Amino acid sequence: MPITILDYVKSVVGDKPAYPAGDFYGNGVAITGGCECCHAMLGGYNAYPSTSGSWRCEGCIGNTGYATAEEFKEDTFGPWTCPACGNGHDIAETRHTTPDGETYSLECGECHEVWEWVP
Ligand SMILES: [Zn+2]
Ligand SMILES: [Zn+2]
Repeated sequence: MPITILDYVKSVVGDKPAYPAGDFYGNGVAITGGCECCHAMLGGYNAYPSTSGSWRCEGCIGNTGYATAEEFKEDTFGPWTCPACGNGHDIAETRHTTPDGETYSLECGECHEVWEWVP
């Protein structure tokens, strides 16, 4: 089965008895939404993120889901993780074109660490 939004949240915050809304919003995902196809109401535990960028229910996700939370995270928020605080979902990127190619200036939205990334 593909991962659910809750699986992603668990992968970030670890196993807990309950997951408050802040665990979702604080990690860049909503806690409720609707299925892209049949418009069923979904909560994090039964919402499957699709590679289309929207959520789908268990019946509609088909083979468009993500196999792992890491794949979902990288596809949705980019491959970067803040070197200072470990935040991986709220990174602002600015691309610079130089004679040698491209570099990125990245800024963490949580702790405002700034660093460079060269592809
Ligand atoms: Zn559906
Ligand atoms: Zn940071």
